[in-house]
Amino acid sequence: MVQSMTSTDTRDISSTLNQIDRLADAGCELVRLAVPDQHAARCLREICVRSCLPVIADIHFHDHLALEAIKEGVQGIRINPGNIAKDKFAGIIKAAKERDVCIRLGINSGSLEKDLLRKYGGPIPEALVESALRAVVYVENLGLSRLKVSLKSSDVFTTIEACRMFSERSDYPLHLGITEAGTVLQSAIRSSLGIGMLLSDGIGDTIRVSVTGDPVQEMTVAYGILSSLKMRRRGPEIISCPTCGRCEISLLDLVEEVEKRLAKMKTPLKIALMGCVVNGPGEAADADIGIAGGKGTGMLFERGKVVQKIREKDFVSTLLEGIRRLTGESIP
Ligand code: SF4
Repeated sequence: MVQSMTSTDTRDISSTLNQIDRLADAGCELVRLAVPDQHAARCLREICVRSCLPVIADIHFHDHLALEAIKEGVQGIRINPGNIAKDKFAGIIKAAKERDVCIRLGINSGSLEKDLLRKYGGPIPEALVESALRAVVYVENLGLSRLKVSLKSSDVFTTIEACRMFSERSDYPLHLGITEAGTVLQSAIRSSLGIGMLLSDGIGDTIRVSVTGDPVQEMTVAYGILSSLKMRRRGPEIISCPTCGRCEISLLDLVEEVEKRLAKMKTPLKIALMGCVVNGPGEAADADIGIAGGKGTGMLFERGKVVQKIREKDFVSTLLEGIRRLTGESIP
């Protein structure tokens, strides 16, 4: 499942719900909210009732906020065991168990327990795994088994190694993500490598692509990873060539316009937009729909067959007409 986190102030209920709706519309299936204070915790009641997605509260260092969030109706709590004293941690687990709330144990390289940092000399994968296993045993001993675990580092290989090692020793669901991954391009690179390598190993149950900026952008990357690994498909998969000296159409303008117009499309569809007749016809025929450019013109392909020759000025309108026909979606 694809997860995200709101970037709004949780105390601003309408903005938060609005962002949750936008995230859901883009494919998000679970949403985490920051709960920085009591006011934010109290807003969770209305947010949980009106949210179209399951809500996970992130309570940082404060056990009383976790207890409040559980009372207000969240479906999950994310706790970093390194940030909460043992006795307070036990209180949260007890309250979660009583209300059947799921716990995510979020192990983070930036906040590992001091004894583990001393033992391993730093936040290496072994230290993250020991921290996670220790927390799992502690929670199990308190009788709670609705658990999910994440082991995160801003270093891609530390994350990969830690998740691989943990999954060899535990069957609890794993949430995958590269923390503090940067703006959308940087995050896409780092997340595709980190999340992608783990998923292709068969490891991981929920994923989050962290992006500095509007979290809705995370969905394109998340579904891009899932679709490239042939795990799940959602929305358009646009294949376009890099162009070269043979290209005689404005391919970049075409791709940008098509991407923009299909931003909200949900039906999986492979669309090829190719600059010329060298590789264009092959790729376009292999896609659900595609255009292979010529000199100010192009051939429209649908399900492997040439449908018509079109002029460049009609590329977008004709392509969208075909996509509407194939998907039944009302593309604006
Ligand atoms: S499809 Fe044509 S225009 Fe595009 S990169 Fe290949 S040769 Fe160049």
